[in-house]
Amino acid sequence: MTPYDKLLVLDLDETLVHACERPLEREPDFSVGPYALYRRPHLDAFLNGVLAAFEHVGIWTASTLPYAVPVLDHIIDRSRLSFVWGRERCTHKYIRETDEHVWLKPIRKLRRLGFRKERVLYVDDSPEKLMQSYSNLVPIRPFVGNQSDAELPLVLAYLHTLGPLTNVRPIEKRWWRARVDRQWE
Ligand SMILES: [Mg+2]
Repeated sequence: MTPYDKLLVLDLDETLVHACERPLEREPDFSVGPYALYRRPHLDAFLNGVLAAFEHVGIWTASTLPYAVPVLDHIIDRSRLSFVWGRERCTHKYIRETDEHVWLKPIRKLRRLGFRKERVLYVDDSPEKLMQSYSNLVPIRPFVGNQSDAELPLVLAYLHTLGPLTNVRPIEKRWWRARVDRQWE
């Protein structure tokens, strides 16, 4: 299979792993600094699947790189990634109405790398970080340690339906889970 000519941007925390300072009832899979880390179920199959399916896969987290890089080194060979971006690449936004601070992951920063917005997909559990690029977002349920979580195989199946498209933006992605479930019935 020729890989899809798209850039897939993956979030880290609560998308691929769950990190906490107080470990859950079971042993963590690994630790980084003061954090206990848990891999999302089916993580290896998902990462191998997206790396085979997409020409470009990058990681963009709102965490700091001194945390994210060692976490990634436990779950993936970083040389297979197009980039690893941390909080310093995010744009800070203060939302007055809710008195919240948000780290945005603006798609225009990817355009500077040469990726056109028609060919960029984000998988992220925090839709507010993509408030300027909803059309590129496949929202995923947050992973907080549930061992029966089966989100990654589902989202991989859905990404295969978007990969061949010339422009991923016109597709409504909020209800993607229902579409994949139906496909598998
Ligand atoms: Mg996240």
